[in-house]
Amino acid sequence: MSNQIKTEILKGDLYINGKWVNEPDQSYFESLNPATGELVGVCAAASPAQVDTAVAAAEKAYSSWKNTPIPERASYLTKAAQLFELRREELARVMTMEMGKVLTESLGEVGVVSATAQYMAGEGRRLFGETVPAGFSGRNVRMVREPLGVAACITPWNFPVALASYKIFSALIAGNTVVWKPASEVALSAKIFVEILAETGLPEGVVNLITGSGSKVGRKLAEHQAVKVISFTGSTEVGQQLAEMSCKTLKRISLELGGKNAVIVLKDADLDKAADGIVKSAFTTTGQRCTAASRVIVERPVKEQLVKKIVQLTKSMKIGNGLEEGSQIGPLVNEDQLHTVERYVQKAIEEGGNIVSGGQRVNELGSFYYEPTIIENVRPNDSIAQEEIFGPVLAIIEVDSYEEAMEVNNGTIYGLSTSIYTNSLHYANRGASEAVSGLVYINNGTSNAEMGVAFGGMKMSGNGHREVSHHAFDVMTEWKSIYTNY
Ligand code: NAP
Ligand code: MG
Repeated sequence: MSNQIKTEILKGDLYINGKWVNEPDQSYFESLNPATGELVGVCAAASPAQVDTAVAAAEKAYSSWKNTPIPERASYLTKAAQLFELRREELARVMTMEMGKVLTESLGEVGVVSATAQYMAGEGRRLFGETVPAGFSGRNVRMVREPLGVAACITPWNFPVALASYKIFSALIAGNTVVWKPASEVALSAKIFVEILAETGLPEGVVNLITGSGSKVGRKLAEHQAVKVISFTGSTEVGQQLAEMSCKTLKRISLELGGKNAVIVLKDADLDKAADGIVKSAFTTTGQRCTAASRVIVERPVKEQLVKKIVQLTKSMKIGNGLEEGSQIGPLVNEDQLHTVERYVQKAIEEGGNIVSGGQRVNELGSFYYEPTIIENVRPNDSIAQEEIFGPVLAIIEVDSYEEAMEVNNGTIYGLSTSIYTNSLHYANRGASEAVSGLVYINNGTSNAEMGVAFGGMKMSGNGHREVSHHAFDVMTEWKSIYTNY
């Protein structure tokens, strides 16, 4: 790591009950830039008592926020959407500095935050209930959605603000108050996000920011009696732990977890389009996306040709510091992630895989850069075909039929995203129906989400909940049935 110290470092504090916490004995942890090794800033590590204070603040703010008319709640989100646009560049740069993704992606992500704010503000007007014909005269019966109370949002580093916006804005519009625990890697980006929300004039306690170690803060939130719902995005392993920790208090928990996403390429497919979709899905965000394509399942007769096209496109991608113009692939987020990638590539070779492209660190750039890597001769049960790597590594698996392709696709513990390239109406429709995945794409890569469309995975990629669309309210509200005899 370089010893260069930037002259101006950022400082991230906790935000509790409408105030930035400034305790003389607060302990801090560092946020480092994976492209340079430089210190980006320091962030507060919340103590258990501070987590309690944040939950108490959210609990106190709840009844008034719940009773605030929805259009008024929506007005904060509309204002936030504008403010995110104004600070888009600043926030995007800090995201790139903290976790390495290229600036164009970070800018796009802030755009998603604004769009989510606007979308959820609109959805507020559609938080419809139901009326049911009553079984007695002189009675009416209706069902309404009610918020739950304090929502704890726990988010990963790969999308520092978009995933937070899915959770926080759906929680707020539905009338919940929020305690947010972002990933430590991106705690400074989280601080700017909350600064923007604070600027809208949100009442105190409605949104609280708690940074610090996942295992300490996360456990506290999961076990807290006053936290009524946890919305978590992250690894399957941590999701399982949180589910276990939260079960005693019977709180709701929504889990968006890992994936082992595949692109199926049938022999009748447009190979240029397939190669383009594959490369974008595999190497955008340096492969560190829950929906990243990490397997290509291709019919044998077109394998050679497809791999050639993928390699060609990959070779033209520019690796570099995400802040530099033209960079398309940034560094991995940290040293651990780099070692994970190296370990998997080594294992793939031991298991008989053959590297067709990449497979090395990019030494001249230093730090955590790794070449986009394509490995063929992979069998469906090899480690790199089964386990989530979260890096720029793509396994090529050859098959003899559509049926075999689908069996391989479905043959992992995950079920997040599947894409199928084909010109056959028959196989496109069978694929859509037979893929055990929360997201299915026909003639498109694996990584693409539209506003208003349910997002989430099947099997070990989640626990059945969905985000982004109005189905998010199945997480953030519960039903109350009201009988009125008049
Ligand atoms: P992670 O290690 O599971 O961490 C996610 C969040 O949980 C972070 O805020 C982390 O805090 C916290 N955490 C860590 N250990 C915890 C514990 N024992 N109890 C409670 N909270 C804890 O995941 P990540 O490395 O940040 O992100 C990568 C993973 O996220 C991948 O598996 C990826 O597939 C998944 N992901 C899924 C989706 C989806 O929508 N399905 C989207 C994006 C990413 P610290 O940072 O302080 O450790
Ligand atoms: Mg970092």
